[in-house]
Amino acid sequence: MTAAYDAIVIGTGQAGPSLAARLAKAGMKVAIVERKLFGGTCVNTGCIPTKTMVASAYAAHMVRRAAEFGVDPGDGGSVDMRRVKARKDAISGKSRTAVETWLKNMDHCTVYEGHARFESPQELTVGPHRLSAKRIFINVGGRAVVPEMPGLDQVEYLTNSSMMSVDFLPKHLIIVGGSYIGLEFGQMYRRFGSRVTILEMGPRLVQREDEDVSVAIQDILAREEIDVRLNAKCIGFSRRGDEIVTRADCADGAQEIGGGSHVLLAVGRRPNTGDLGLEAAGVVVDAHGYIAVDDQLRTSAPGIWALGDCNGKGGFTHTSYNDFEIVAANLLDNDPRRVSDRIPAYALYIDPPLGRAGLTETEVRKTGRSALVGQRPMTKVGRAVEKGESQGFMKIMVDTQSKQILGAAILGTGGDEAIHSILDIMYAKAPYTTIQRAVHIHPTVSELIPTMLGDLRPLQ
Ligand SMILES: Cc1cc2nc3c(=O)[nH]c(=O)nc-3n(C[C@H](O)[C@H](O)[C@H](O)COP(=O)(O)OP(=O)(O)OC[C@H]3O[C@@H](n4cnc5c(N)ncnc54)[C@H](O)[C@@H]3O)c2cc1C
Repeated sequence: MTAAYDAIVIGTGQAGPSLAARLAKAGMKVAIVERKLFGGTCVNTGCIPTKTMVASAYAAHMVRRAAEFGVDPGDGGSVDMRRVKARKDAISGKSRTAVETWLKNMDHCTVYEGHARFESPQELTVGPHRLSAKRIFINVGGRAVVPEMPGLDQVEYLTNSSMMSVDFLPKHLIIVGGSYIGLEFGQMYRRFGSRVTILEMGPRLVQREDEDVSVAIQDILAREEIDVRLNAKCIGFSRRGDEIVTRADCADGAQEIGGGSHVLLAVGRRPNTGDLGLEAAGVVVDAHGYIAVDDQLRTSAPGIWALGDCNGKGGFTHTSYNDFEIVAANLLDNDPRRVSDRIPAYALYIDPPLGRAGLTETEVRKTGRSALVGQRPMTKVGRAVEKGESQGFMKIMVDTQSKQILGAAILGTGGDEAIHSILDIMYAKAPYTTIQRAVHIHPTVSELIPTMLGDLRPLQ
């Protein structure tokens, strides 16, 4: 027998639960399906656990630096990985339980636990259950890519998910991938006490960022003796007794990195769309498996929407949640919100972090428009100097004609927070002079933003 609903949500990531709640509150009979852990990636294997561990790593780092601040470092900051993991599990588990409890107690909402698969545009199965609805919302997220690499079958590689079960200190962690996830894990484990080698296939780290940002990040990591190998092509692994031997063709020739104890793959993510029966529903995906959607997140099949990482429009928790807001506004509030209203913004949580909003300098140049640029090193930020955290810089790009801010990067202490004053001015579509004339609080990182804006030069 088929259970009929007004709406079905597949996945309990960052969009699904809030959408289910809105739809149920609007009087619809709702079903939500989860095949694994309630809360999805962010809660269980992404943002929350990693930032919890970044906090532990920062504590260890500051204990080691304690003497610089006139503080007795005690036993020198030895790290108990089981306690680090226990703290992470407690914080992440609390969030997971909160999502599960919320959904299971929600009026007009039925929770199904199992893998959902389309049978037709309005029908799907979850194990023995058959469900139907005129509106179906796909929020299935993504998972780590496991690339083909010679010898990978000889090593027990880790991904961001299996890293969550690690309660010991890897002696020498080999990380494949020098982008956001690889760098966060790299610095974190270095601070816990591992030797860390990062292999990046491209010519620089975090290639989505401007080159000056990549170089500054590499400098930050180098100061902590993290070994970064760029242009690492043809990566392969073998075993020599207990050790993992990694081979790569790097910029400075063929290299062999011995003494590896563990390998972490951090080379990107792919959407969970391969086993969803999308063909039966008439839902079109692109060449990478992302579900094709319009500006209001409708798929190619009428009555089916796709939200979050699986539509390839964001890749972050805040973009997935914004997808929920867009769909809910269109369906329930007669408010035509769109994905294209969104300004790209995100952070890289190494220490110091990188906060980003809008276009990079490279992207601004590609537009060919006349622009101004301003830049300041973090050594000019009093608060950063006082905290002993003055690595990095901030930079901003402004449109010469409209005077609107096009993009900014703050690589430095508090950069993930300070970037929001710039982001909000961008959303307000106000000229940069608004923030230039604002009186910011002293001593903060944000107080240098007006100063930087008072000293713009043409972008050559
Ligand atoms: C290591 C790491 C760190 C990150 N750090 C950050 C960060 O600091 N800030 C940030 O903004 N983003 C971060 N992200 C990205 C962020 O976690 C994701 O963008 C976000 O979780 C995406 O949410 P989502 O709603 O698309 O789906 P997900 O959270 O992935 O949830 C999808 C859910 O759908 C379920 N599902 C899948 N297929 C089916 C099916 N067929 N039937 C039933 N259920 C199904 C899954 O089990 C899962 O629970 C990080 C990611 C990683 C991997």
